[in-house]
Amino acid sequence: MKNIILIAAPGAGKGTLAKSLKEKYDYVHISTGDLLRDAVSKGDELGLKIKDILAQGLLVEDEIVYQVLKNRLQEADCKNGIIMDGFPRNVNQAVKYEEILSDINIDLGVAILLDIEESKLIERITGRRLCSQCGEIYNIYNPAIAPKVENICNKCGSALYQRSDDNEEALKSRYATYVEKTQPLIDYYKNKNNLYIVDSGKELHYTLEQVEKILNDLGDELD
Ligand code: AMP
Repeated sequence: MKNIILIAAPGAGKGTLAKSLKEKYDYVHISTGDLLRDAVSKGDELGLKIKDILAQGLLVEDEIVYQVLKNRLQEADCKNGIIMDGFPRNVNQAVKYEEILSDINIDLGVAILLDIEESKLIERITGRRLCSQCGEIYNIYNPAIAPKVENICNKCGSALYQRSDDNEEALKSRYATYVEKTQPLIDYYKNKNNLYIVDSGKELHYTLEQVEKILNDLGDELD
C-alpha cells in the first residue's frame, strides 16, 4: 500500500478519512495532533510546554514534533502503509520527513489535499465530538454522523467530549496558521509531481471513493 500524507485545513476531515482507511485497509494512522495531545495529557514537562500552543492554534516547535513522531515511526507496524494526519505541517517538516523516512527505509508515498470551502469548516469544527474511549468521530450538526444519544458513543457507549481547540476562536487562528504555514506544501508536492486533490466537502464515502480511485490508478492493490 502506498503511504499517504493528508494535507487539509482544520475540520476538512483528515482524521475521519484516515480512520476509515485504517478500518478498511489496515493502514497505520499517525496523527501528530493525537501524539501531542497524548503528551499534554501526561502532564509532564513536555506536556505543559505544548498545552498552550495547542490551545492557541499555533504550531508546536518542529523539534518537539520530530521527537514524538520518530518514536512512533520506529514501531514495526509502520512498514505496512502509513497515513500521516497533520504532518508535515510546514515546508521544513516536509524536508525533514524525507530524511527521517530515508533513515528508516520507508517510502514517502503520495500527498493528498482534502479540498473544502472555508465556510464549511465552522460547523465541522464546532459540531465535532469524539469518543473518549474508542476515538469515534461524530458531528452534532450532521444527522448522518450525529450520535444517536446525546454525548454518548454509538459504538461503545462511552462519553463523548469536545476538543478544547474546537471552538470558533481557536479555529480562526488554526485556519490562519494553515494558510500561512501548511498551504505552501501544496506547491511543494505539486513540484514533485506528487499531489492529488480530492473534494472533501461532501459525505465521507464520497471522499473515500476518490482516494481509492487515486490509489488504484497508481497501481495500489487495495484489499
Ligand atoms: P490536529 O489534531 O491535526 O488538528 O492538530 C492539533 C494541534 O496540534 C495543531 O493545531 C497544532 O497546535 C499541533 N500540531 C499537530 N501536528 C503538528 C505538526 N506537524 N507541527 C506542529 N504542530 C502540530
